[in-house]
Amino acid sequence: MSGKEGTAPVDFHCHLDLCPDMRGAFDRCEAVRCITLAVTTTPKAFRRNQAMAGSNRYVHAALGLHPQLVAERADELTLFEEAAPSTRFIGEVGLDAGRRFYPSFALQTQVFERAMTLCARLGDKVISLHSVRTAKQVLDIVERTGVHRTCTPILHWFTGSKSEIRRAIDLGCYFSVNEQMLKTLRGRSLLETVPLARLLTETDAPFQSGADGPKAPGDIEGAVSMIAESHQIRAEYIKASVRATAKALVGE
Ligand SMILES: [Zn+2]
Repeated sequence: MSGKEGTAPVDFHCHLDLCPDMRGAFDRCEAVRCITLAVTTTPKAFRRNQAMAGSNRYVHAALGLHPQLVAERADELTLFEEAAPSTRFIGEVGLDAGRRFYPSFALQTQVFERAMTLCARLGDKVISLHSVRTAKQVLDIVERTGVHRTCTPILHWFTGSKSEIRRAIDLGCYFSVNEQMLKTLRGRSLLETVPLARLLTETDAPFQSGADGPKAPGDIEGAVSMIAESHQIRAEYIKASVRATAKALVGE
């Protein structure tokens, strides 16, 4: 392993298939050796992503059923259940109680709880979780299904309170963070609370807006410098820590 590999980027939650050039996005992440969790929003999309990731070493496709799509796609839960044994990577799944998606909240809860029950039973899954305005409910389902005992939950763009962050840490959760969220008060409080060994970087591309438009997959420099600043540690050390954490999770 070259010295550079140890500090290559980690993008543990991004939507390569929603970026303008999907093939190019996969190829660029692989070329720069970015450990990438390519999350998906439906089981059908997962199949396409899994095929494109092919034998890539660094880009891993994750099986998702996005809470914002559950209203129209709840029937794809069967496809999710069929595909789940074929992958270690799950996401994006979770709950969203934002105004637009609140009407489907009961259905989202059913779907998410079934997905987590299945993962708990299968075990050894790395799961990227969406929790907009639902930190408590997402953690309740993690705890109730026991998925944290057999799998690794990762809270993506988590904006819970300090006590919810502590609860998540106690449950063994990891956190994937991006620059946009770290600029907020909640983001800073997360950095003060979460041990470095539980932190991963992400872009949520193409949904995170930077100064010059959407952040590209793998563009985690801004997040790294904010973590470095908060911990008063050099950026290179933060990158190495995040890289080591990601490698352990993907099983390298
Ligand atoms: Zn996402």
